[in-house]
Amino acid sequence: MVNNTIQIESDPTTLAAVQHLKAIDFELAYLALLTREGLKPISRWEKVLDEAALEALREVGLRTRPVHRKVRSGQAFTETVFGNTAAYLEVYAQYFDGLPVDKSAETVRVEGFLFGYPPCCVAQYIKHPYAPNEFPGHKQEILFHWTCEGCVLTPLLMPHYERIYRLTQQY
Ligand SMILES: [Zn+2]
Repeated sequence: MVNNTIQIESDPTTLAAVQHLKAIDFELAYLALLTREGLKPISRWEKVLDEAALEALREVGLRTRPVHRKVRSGQAFTETVFGNTAAYLEVYAQYFDGLPVDKSAETVRVEGFLFGYPPCCVAQYIKHPYAPNEFPGHKQEILFHWTCEGCVLTPLLMPHYERIYRLTQQY
């Protein structure tokens, strides 16, 4: 049985931190809570985060790490990855620090592993991105991976994503 109880933090520091993230962007707060819950080993935020936002992520219990990337034109930018443990953040930085943004199969594989995507969905996406699936659109929208046809793992993950999504809305 999946525990569907919705309970926001009673601790005022965490409460304020999640609200701060949510004020920046709902998706940032949602990713932070999914990651803290362990559904994603790490998550990435591609826009600039100021010190207050980084502090809010840390108050939620996450570690943060800046990673330096380039867009295809060569312009540099900084993204932030966050997770419960330092090791996966290091693995991400080891692979991506200094690298231009790309959509190669290798990149999709490394990202899929570190962002907690089902391996079947990652493999299908590499072969044929956004292949039709039988998954309802409103469910697909709260996920960060494209579900493969006949996926066994996504329906197992779904109630957890839905719970955290509703939790994020409650803050
Ligand atoms: Zn799948």
